[in-house]
Amino acid sequence: MHKIDMDLVEMTMDVMKYAIDRLSSTQNKIGKPLKEEELKALVGDTITKDGIGGEKAFNLWKKHLTKSNVPIDHPRHLAFVPASPTRAAVMFDLVTSASSIHGAYWMEGAGGIFCENEAMRWMVSLTGLPKGAFGVFTSGGTAANLSAIVTAREYWRSLNEQNKLEKGLIITSIGAHSSVKAMAKVADIDVLLVDTEDRLQASALKDKISGLTPHQRERLFAVVATGGTTNAGIIDDLEGIANLCEAEHLWFHVDAAYGGGALLADSVRHEFKGIEKADSITIDPHKWMFSPYDCGAVIYKNPELAKQAHAQEGSYLEIFKDEGAHGFNPTDYQIQLTRRVRGLPLWFSLATHGTDRYKEAIERGIELAQIAGRMIDEKPHVELVRAPSLSCVLYRRKGWHAEDYRHWTYENHEKGFALVTPTKWKTGDTFETVSRFCFINPDTTEEDIEAILDSMV
Ligand SMILES: *Cc1c(COP(=O)(O)O)cnc(C)c1O
Repeated sequence: MHKIDMDLVEMTMDVMKYAIDRLSSTQNKIGKPLKEEELKALVGDTITKDGIGGEKAFNLWKKHLTKSNVPIDHPRHLAFVPASPTRAAVMFDLVTSASSIHGAYWMEGAGGIFCENEAMRWMVSLTGLPKGAFGVFTSGGTAANLSAIVTAREYWRSLNEQNKLEKGLIITSIGAHSSVKAMAKVADIDVLLVDTEDRLQASALKDKISGLTPHQRERLFAVVATGGTTNAGIIDDLEGIANLCEAEHLWFHVDAAYGGGALLADSVRHEFKGIEKADSITIDPHKWMFSPYDCGAVIYKNPELAKQAHAQEGSYLEIFKDEGAHGFNPTDYQIQLTRRVRGLPLWFSLATHGTDRYKEAIERGIELAQIAGRMIDEKPHVELVRAPSLSCVLYRRKGWHAEDYRHWTYENHEKGFALVTPTKWKTGDTFETVSRFCFINPDTTEEDIEAILDSMV
C-alpha cells in the first residue's frame, strides 16, 4: 500500500492543490443536498473488485459529491452551531492524518499527546479551575458529557454500598443540550428537568431538590448546568448552582460545549463566574475554538476520579502502563481507547496565531450578535424574541408561522444563498417557532446579516 509510484505522487499533488484551493477560496458555495438516488445516478458504482482508480474517484468527488455538502464555515451559514476552522488548524489536520499516531497511550503518541496537553493546559487556565485540574480531547461534546457523567456516577457509587445498587439521578434544565439526556440514557441514569429554557437559577434548582422523594434524593448525584445554551446562548447561574451543589454534596458539571470559547472574551467572562468550582466541564474546540471536526474536550477538577472510571484493563494493554511508557495516557480519562490526536490541529493553530487572535475572533462573534440585534430592532418586519446572548440571536418575522420559516429556509438553501434555520422558543406553556442566528465565523459581514434579514420582507 505504501509503495511509492508516480500515480500516487501525482494524486498527492492533486489532493494538496484541492486542499489549498479550498482553504484560500472565499467563495465556497453552499451546496445542495441531493437525494441518495440522485447522487447514485451521478456517480454510479464506486466500490468495485478492481477499483475505479483514484483519479476517477477524486473527479467524482469534485464534480458531484462535494457540491452536495454545506460548508460549515460559510459566512452565511448561521444555523445550528456552525464552525470556522482556521487554515492553520486544517493544514495540521492533514499532518495529523499523515503522521499515523495512535493517541491513546504516551508510549506510542508522546509527541502528539505533548502538543495536545499544551493546548489543554491553556484551555484549563481559561476555566479558573484549581491546580491539578486537567482534561482530554474527545470526539465532541456528546462523548465529553458521557465521560463526565459516568465519572460522576462511578464516584458516587464508590461512596457507599447502597449507591452501588441504585439507579442514579441527575438534574438539569430543559435548556440543556439533547446529548445530556441521550447520554444519561446510555449510562442508564434518570434525568429530572427544571422547566425553564431561560437561565437556570439556583433557587429553581433548590426547589426541584426540595420536591424530591427521600429515595430520589438518595439517588441524586449530579447537576448539569449549561455555559451557553445551544438554542439561545444563555449561561446558567453557575455561581449559585456551584454553591448549592457544594452544600448538597452533588457533582457539578458545566456543559460549555458551545459557549466555552467565550471564556476568552473579556466582554462576557464575568457571566461564567462559578465555572471555576465545577467538578467537570465540557468544551468543544470544534465549535467556538476554530478547530476542524471533530474535537471536543472534557476537563476534570480531579482527573484521578476519571481514571478510576475509565481506565481500561487488558493483558494486551499492560505494557502501556509499564515504567518505560511513563506519561499521560488520554485513554484513561474518557470513553474511547484508540483515538486520533484530535487536539493536535488546535495546538498548531494556537502556536501559529497566539491566543489574542482567538480572543478577537470570539469577541467578533459576540459583536455580530449585538449588531444583528440592533438591525432587527430597526427593521419593521422583524423583532427580537429576547436580547442576543453570547453569539445567538432569536428573532421573529412578524406574522409568520412555522411553515413560512421552513419555506424561507429551504428557499435560501436551494438558492445557495444562506443557511439559517428556525427553532422553537418556550414561553410559559407555548412553543413558538422563531428564526435564529448563531455567529462563529468572524468573516461574516454586516452586509451578510442585512441581506438575510431583507430576504424576509
Ligand atoms: C453541540 C453541543 C453538545 C454536543 O456536542 P457534539 O460535539 O455535537 O457532540 C453538547 N452540549 C452543548 C451545550 C452543545 O452546544
